[in-house]
Amino acid sequence: MRGKPQRYDLAVVGAGIVGLATALAALRRGLKVVVIDRDARANGASVRNFGFVTVTGQERGTMWQRARRSREVWREVARAAHIPILHTGLWMCVRRPEALAVFEESPATEMAEGCRLLSAADAQRRCPSLGGAATLAVLESSLELRVESREAIPRLAAWLESRGVEFLREHTVTDIQVPLVATSRGALRAERVAVCPGDDFNGLYAERLARFGLTRCKLQMLRLADPGFRLPAALMSDLGLGRYPGYADLAAAGPLKARLAHEQPLHLEHGVHLIVVQSADGSLVVGDSHHYAATPDPFAQRQVDELIMEEFRAALGVEPPPVLERWIGTYASAPDRAVLIDAPAPRVRIAIVTSGSGASTGFALGEELVTGLFDEAVAA
Ligand SMILES: Cc1cc2nc3c(=O)[nH]c(=O)nc-3n(C[C@H](O)[C@H](O)[C@H](O)COP(=O)(O)OP(=O)(O)OC[C@H]3O[C@@H](n4cnc5c(N)ncnc54)[C@H](O)[C@@H]3O)c2cc1C
Repeated sequence: MRGKPQRYDLAVVGAGIVGLATALAALRRGLKVVVIDRDARANGASVRNFGFVTVTGQERGTMWQRARRSREVWREVARAAHIPILHTGLWMCVRRPEALAVFEESPATEMAEGCRLLSAADAQRRCPSLGGAATLAVLESSLELRVESREAIPRLAAWLESRGVEFLREHTVTDIQVPLVATSRGALRAERVAVCPGDDFNGLYAERLARFGLTRCKLQMLRLADPGFRLPAALMSDLGLGRYPGYADLAAAGPLKARLAHEQPLHLEHGVHLIVVQSADGSLVVGDSHHYAATPDPFAQRQVDELIMEEFRAALGVEPPPVLERWIGTYASAPDRAVLIDAPAPRVRIAIVTSGSGASTGFALGEELVTGLFDEAVAA
């Protein structure tokens, strides 16, 4: 960037899913948008995740609504940007009566939308390859989607670029004094700025963000070889019902959590709960674990991988195929909120998903940010 700074209606800092979603919402309003990212290509949580867009199990109220809306936008965008939806739906493979009791309480809540109970025999008929000896029943949800994030995020960015959004890669935003946005490679001008930094909360507005008590959560992930059959949907287990707030916060979850604490204390200690999704080549993405620290160590622990595999074996009733890849990812976490939206200065918003659900809620959040920034009644 040389000479006179470029002018934009909106500058978005961060090209993860939250930044791209914000750019999309602004583009849909006909605004001139630039997305600025310090990395040469997507490298954050948005390409390390399962690409699992979950609705059921999200915290009741606003988060569930955000997930419901984001799922609609994913559908629209996937079609337009040629992002394959690799499978839909979710099977929670229930193996304890206490887990079934949680589901039985859920019809009184949003969790019931698109959900039904399959008997173990019905599940076995639908997917004979799953050796469900321990399965009591399957809670089936129809609302979930799965994309391959490491391909979907670059495609989404390329599609936004083809529609007129500008991208500045390898530019670190160092200061924001609207309308001036300073980067490591020169300044630009923007009427509004959305800061979507993921877990990079020690950079822009670090002093202000310090008051929210943010920390990081580290997750271990695995890719396993093609098991030789297609999954009927994404799979989860009892540990998920004990962890996902839409279920875990129900009164009926108390006995399940107590039983899990007794029977699987190590899984709980390492925050292990099972998600299994399948890729186009048949391989499985499997995880995960949750370790919280200001700066988590960057090393994957073998014991944690083994706990994930143990849960895979127990829930699917099949031996896990060989491991093809291992990686870790981190996301921002807050003690008291699932999403942080802050207005550090007039015409600036910060948005950080602090609950590990940005793939599921990002598009709705992007719309909220743009509304907040451009709706005169709301903008500061
Ligand atoms: C292993 C793992 C599995 C997960 N699974 C799921 C899942 O299945 N479903 C789900 O809904 N959620 C999942 N999540 C959570 C989800 O991935 C995150 O909530 C989401 O990706 C956060 O998106 P983001 O855009 O805020 O952050 P990021 O993807 O981290 O992007 C932030 C970007 O901001 C840039 N940036 C920061 N500061 C600056 C600056 N000053 N200048 C320029 N650029 C800057 C960074 O370079 C980065 O590219 C998972 C997370 C992990 C780690």
